[in-house]
Amino acid sequence: MPVQARLIGSFNYKSLRYTKNHPLRIPRVSLLLELLFSLGLLEEGELVESRPALWDELILFHEEEYLKALEECDRCMCVKDGYRERFNIGTYENPISPAMWKGSLLATGSSIQVVEMFLGGSIAFNPAGGMHHAYPSRARGFCFINDPGIAIQYLLERGFKRVLYVDLDAHHCDGVQDFFYEEDRVFVLSLHQSPDYAFPFNKGYLQERGSGRGKGYNLNLPLPPGIKDGELLYVLERTLPLVRDVFKPEVYVLQLGTDMLREDYLSKFEVSNGGFLRAFDLVREVLGEGIYLGGGGYHPVALARAWALLWCRMSNRPIQDRLTPEARKVLLSVDFEEFEEDASRCYMYEKLLDPPNYGEVREKVKGLVDEALSYYL
Ligand SMILES: [Zn+2]
Repeated sequence: MPVQARLIGSFNYKSLRYTKNHPLRIPRVSLLLELLFSLGLLEEGELVESRPALWDELILFHEEEYLKALEECDRCMCVKDGYRERFNIGTYENPISPAMWKGSLLATGSSIQVVEMFLGGSIAFNPAGGMHHAYPSRARGFCFINDPGIAIQYLLERGFKRVLYVDLDAHHCDGVQDFFYEEDRVFVLSLHQSPDYAFPFNKGYLQERGSGRGKGYNLNLPLPPGIKDGELLYVLERTLPLVRDVFKPEVYVLQLGTDMLREDYLSKFEVSNGGFLRAFDLVREVLGEGIYLGGGGYHPVALARAWALLWCRMSNRPIQDRLTPEARKVLLSVDFEEFEEDASRCYMYEKLLDPPNYGEVREKVKGLVDEALSYYL
C-alpha cells in the first residue's frame, strides 16, 4: 500500500509577491496548483493549506532581533535606518515586500507541516520551501527565513541523531551548510554550480567539509557549467549510496530547486525535466521516502511542469503524455516577459515530460567525484 502524499500550498502566495522585476516575482506555488488542478492531478484532501510558522519554530535557527526587524519592516513596508547594513534587507536582492515576512512565514510553517506529516507516516511536499541561503541574522540570496534549517533543527529537537540534508538546487546551500558546519548529527550533501562562476561565489567548494565535530559531515560537489542529465545522475549514483553507507541517516530533507533545468535563465545547467525527475527517483531509490521541499527556480512554466512531475511520482500517478487544453491555458496565461516571443520553448505547452538531454560525462566531473569520494574510502 503506497504512502499517502500531500501537497502543502496556498493561493495566498499570489498576494505575497516580491517587488516588481525581482526574479521571484513570478507565480510559483499558485501556478503549480492551477496546473495540477487543470490536469486532474490534485484531489480534494490532497492539498493542505499552508500555515504560518510560529515564533518558537523561527528561533530554532534565527536571532530574535533579526526576526523583529523583519516584522517591523513588514508593518511599515519600509526599511529602517541601519537595517540594510545589519540585516541585508531592503536591498535589490532581498527587498521589502509581502514575500519577506508573511510569505516566508507561510513557506516555513509549510516545511514544519511536511516534517510533521512525515513523522506521522505520510509524505508531503512544500514547493514554497527550500530557502537555503538565509542566515540566522541576515537575509541572503532572496531568502529571509531558512526553512530547511528550521526543519532540520525541528528534527534534532525531536531526538533524531542523524539527519541528512540533500540539496539539488543549482546554487550552493550556504545558509544551511554554515549553520550545521560543526554538527555531527547533520550531514549536508550539495550539488551545485561552482562558486567560481555562480552565486554565492564564496562558498560551496569541495574543501569545505565541516569542522570540529562536524568534520567530514559536509560534502560539496561544485560542478562546471553545462551539466546535463547524464552528469547529474552520474554524480548522484556515485555519491548518494556512499553517503548513505557512511552516515546511515535516520531521515533526510531534500531540497528540490528547479534552477538546474535548461530553461532556467539564472543558472548554467542544462538538465531536462526528465533528468530532474530521474534524479528525484534515484534519491528515493537510495534513501527511501523523505521530507520534500522546493527551492530556487526562475522560469515559472519550467518550474511548474517539473514540480508537477515530482508530484505525480510522490502521489503514485502515471505521467500524462499530452497537456490538456485547460493546462495549456494555465501555462500560457503566465505573464513572463523573458519568454514571450520565444517560439523554441513551445514544447513546454504540449507535454509535461521532455525528452532526456543526456550528454556525456566529462573527465573533470569524474575527477571531481573521485576526489570527493576519496575522503571517505
Ligand atoms: Zn538556486
